[in-house]
Amino acid sequence: MAISKDIQGFLLNDATERFMRYVKIWTTSDEKSSSTPSTEGQLELGRILSEELKDLGLLDVVQDKWGYIYGILPASKGLEDAKTIGLIAHLDTSEAVSGKDVKPVIHKNYDGNDITYSQDSELKLSLNDSKVLKEYIGLDIITSSGDTLLGADDKAGVAEIMTACAAWQKYPELKHGAITICFTPDEEIGRGTKKIKKKLLPKICYTLDGSEMGQLELECFDAWGVDIKFKGLSVHPGYAKDLMINAIHIASRFLSEIPEKESPEHTEEREGYYHLYKLEGGEEEAKATLIIRDFILESNKKRMEFFKSLKEAYERRYPGLKIELAFQHQYENMILYLEKEEKAIELAKEAITQAGLEVKLHSIRGGTDGAKLSARGIPTPNIFTGGLLFHSRKEFIPTLGLQKAAEVILNLAELWSKN
Ligand SMILES: [Zn+2]
Repeated sequence: MAISKDIQGFLLNDATERFMRYVKIWTTSDEKSSSTPSTEGQLELGRILSEELKDLGLLDVVQDKWGYIYGILPASKGLEDAKTIGLIAHLDTSEAVSGKDVKPVIHKNYDGNDITYSQDSELKLSLNDSKVLKEYIGLDIITSSGDTLLGADDKAGVAEIMTACAAWQKYPELKHGAITICFTPDEEIGRGTKKIKKKLLPKICYTLDGSEMGQLELECFDAWGVDIKFKGLSVHPGYAKDLMINAIHIASRFLSEIPEKESPEHTEEREGYYHLYKLEGGEEEAKATLIIRDFILESNKKRMEFFKSLKEAYERRYPGLKIELAFQHQYENMILYLEKEEKAIELAKEAITQAGLEVKLHSIRGGTDGAKLSARGIPTPNIFTGGLLFHSRKEFIPTLGLQKAAEVILNLAELWSKN
């Protein structure tokens, strides 16, 4: 079903108004905090959303003590037997850039010239910054004021879900089965599903946490953490001949064997990598901390084999040296679970097409809450929000992206109600 012009206008205005309001609430998560949610501001945004969900006619709305919000929108009359679907977005923003005192600005009718910022005269958003910006000439673009991120990741997702709820309330002709809404804290620090109540979620969910308009994400990295401990022997350097086993020096030789081309700064699209991000220690002991990433589990297994063979070679080369390897599987590529869910994927594609957009299948070079949920038995593809350049002071979103994502939600709900 095509959404009427009237409803499209409502979606655009409602989602823009909500988005401008939600981004002003400081919800940066904090990796160093051990509480859930990691920051107070996420509770504040959650309180506002809970009240708004109740006003929009959702039932059983709760904000639990960890800051998760749940609510159920009952099905349209006569569609009570339709399958329930879930819509998920996250409350927090990335720590990479400040999210405090965000002052969003709407640049009306973007003309393709550089966008400048009131809080940083050096900063510019130009056509070179993003491949899609050229396609957005003529649209209204929202940015920060240059001193913070914008927070479209993921307040765009939050606003779009809220707007869809508002549209369902205002326009009863928009048909849908029951819908479960869930907002999660601390996604950006990898804890978004840690305390999620799986039994409150339906069998199929969608996250609204993707990027450019039209995108549908069914794949994410297969992700491993790697700890390598080098145990050497310290001796006075003046008398160390044939005795010292210099753990940190050997560690740096060992790590230099990693192929340089397989690093984050040399890879893109579907290429995997090794990423060393911490090296510490001394002669006696040294420790390297890495991650390895790929879309294919077998390729990551080869990287682990590579470390095992290096360990053997180095222990032979430096008698007395001990190397300990530890691998932790952090998350799996969700395609393993989603490829069986043809209907969830087909309907998502159809919902995007109905919104007048081209479906762009995209592989996430990172993780998502959906990956963890999918692995735990709730297949959860990721739908675009329309935002771009996430985790950056140059983050932006066209207001049309907010509208289109809301349209996709409405279409998706209607498609599921008929299937
Ligand atoms: Zn996100």
